[in-house]
Amino acid sequence: MTETLQAYRCERCGAPLEVTPESIVVICEYCGNPNWMTDIREEIYVVPSLSKGDIERSFKQRVAEDFDLRRIKNKISIVEVNGVYVPFYFVTVKVEARYEGYKKRRERVGTGKRARIVTKREKVSGTLRSTLKIPILARRSAEDFSIFELAEHFRHSKPELIKIQEVDWKKIRLPVLNTEISSEEARDMARDEAGDRIREKAESKVDELIEFQCRTKIVNVSPLTLVPYWYLVYNYGMAQYKAAYAGWSSHLLAIQEPVMAYHRALYFIGVLASCAIAALGFAFLRDLRVALGALIFASGLSYALGRKTVSDVRIERG
Ligand SMILES: [Zn+2]
Repeated sequence: MTETLQAYRCERCGAPLEVTPESIVVICEYCGNPNWMTDIREEIYVVPSLSKGDIERSFKQRVAEDFDLRRIKNKISIVEVNGVYVPFYFVTVKVEARYEGYKKRRERVGTGKRARIVTKREKVSGTLRSTLKIPILARRSAEDFSIFELAEHFRHSKPELIKIQEVDWKKIRLPVLNTEISSEEARDMARDEAGDRIREKAESKVDELIEFQCRTKIVNVSPLTLVPYWYLVYNYGMAQYKAAYAGWSSHLLAIQEPVMAYHRALYFIGVLASCAIAALGFAFLRDLRVALGALIFASGLSYALGRKTVSDVRIERG
């Protein structure tokens, strides 16, 4: 059997394009021309990126300043630094929800020896309103390490945006991940997300949600926006670790760092301390509820810390 591969070429410069069946728009790596695979033609914006050298400098600076990394500075070497443009839509959604449910209340009834605590259910209702700006990754594939942080940092830092036609592509030359989600789909996804978030909020207001109605209104859908994302791989010992950066500000989004022997020691002390809290809780606190609370808190803590002692990589978020 022979496989036929349809070769796509850029409409403007003729360079080969990597097209998948899901691709909606493919940006030519050589000339920056947007090649639309559908009838849609929309505006595309680009966030200008810093250079590879800027990202390397940012990493080296962290290594020099970071409490953990500077101790192993001489054993760290950069393996690769790569940048890529990630397509996003930013959707503003107005959401309004009405909820009704039961809230449990503990009440003391009776007096003296006959006093007891009863749980009463009380019907409560309310309205929630909110305007949310929701980033939608315009890709179907699984999200990479720290893509969420990338979108959040974009929202907070509001970088400069340039129309793709006005970009000097020879200066940029970063590969662009193909867009696989249309702005219509992004609207629907943002609606769902906004609905889920406000439902969660309603659920947190009651112990049992019995009715929930929600209305969403799309206020604005941003043009397709290409956001520069850089990742750096570095070597330490026999292992490789990754750091991710926002391309316009070289802001560190997340970094994997080796777990050192002294981290393990600190976590271990943490586990011992939290076991001690649990023991103290039982021994000295008369009120059983407090003792139980201390035990639950402490065992949660020692569980979390105990997990850390066996992992070789810890992740710090910027
Ligand atoms: Zn081209």
